[in-house]
Amino acid sequence: MPRRAHTEPTPSKTSRRGVRCARRRPRTAHAPDGATRADTTFGAAPQPRFAPDFAARLLVVLLPLGLCGCLLARTQVVRLPERHSVETERLLILSDVRLSLQHPLVTDLQQLQQRITHELQLPDGERQVVVYLFGDEDAYRRYLRTAYPSLPPRRAYFVGTADELAVFTFWGDRIREDLRHEFTHGLLHAALRNVPLWLDEGLAEYFEVVPSDAGTPVHTEYIGELLDAVRRGWRPDLRRLEGLHDVAEMHRRDYAEAWAWVHFFLNGSDEHRAAMLDYLLELRDSAHPPAFSQRLPNDARSWNNRLLAFLVREYQRLHRERHG
Ligand SMILES: [Zn+2]
Repeated sequence: MPRRAHTEPTPSKTSRRGVRCARRRPRTAHAPDGATRADTTFGAAPQPRFAPDFAARLLVVLLPLGLCGCLLARTQVVRLPERHSVETERLLILSDVRLSLQHPLVTDLQQLQQRITHELQLPDGERQVVVYLFGDEDAYRRYLRTAYPSLPPRRAYFVGTADELAVFTFWGDRIREDLRHEFTHGLLHAALRNVPLWLDEGLAEYFEVVPSDAGTPVHTEYIGELLDAVRRGWRPDLRRLEGLHDVAEMHRRDYAEAWAWVHFFLNGSDEHRAAMLDYLLELRDSAHPPAFSQRLPNDARSWNNRLLAFLVREYQRLHRERHG
């Protein structure tokens, strides 16, 4: 019997208690303006991300069914993974495939937890993140179709409730990236009272990138896309991004911009990093602190221009590293 929530929460649109993320990114770059992110793993047409009101309905459906740990779909029993489990202090993986504590995926998540806790100076939260890892895509999709019949296909979900911080996904070729992204959501929601949407996704995008020997991991694809957009007249706008409270409003470029702001503040300078860490500290204690942009000195436009200049420098740095 997998661990499931035993009470029914009432998530709000901006609550950390609701569904926050569905994995989706296409491998191809350059989604057009207003385009939604496709899930190439499923080979599906581009789909919109979750609307939070849908997420709320989702939880209402999910949790009562979760009480028995299984769902009846006509004649077919659809269960959450429970055959194997591996557990660390902050992570419980219930899976159809056997994993050991020494498996690279498990050690990768442990190292990621240490890195996130250290870099973001997060407290050691007491809550575990529970990963339901299906053995294959068909089993995962079958479960989702039964548990969430109107859910568009996605590779993974993070579902946060008052009782459980859960990740649902399957054993696929992008499992490492997806687990890193969703586990980041889980750790943030375990440690903070509130995680603004732009920051939640920006940090998840930031930490999903697998570290290499080349220094700070960078979403090079995003930098190229954003600078292409700049050439077409787009400009970063932190306040606009902060105004997005509904994941259905967020398109690929918004995820790229969210990543860029996080990358900028964590790597731009000591002052930038301090501003971000101060804000995270405030989010530990306050569910509704002032917006991050309001904490910054100078006007918002100057920060938008600073991000732009930073992205250009990052592009040039990466270009030099690659081509000498
Ligand atoms: Zn996410």
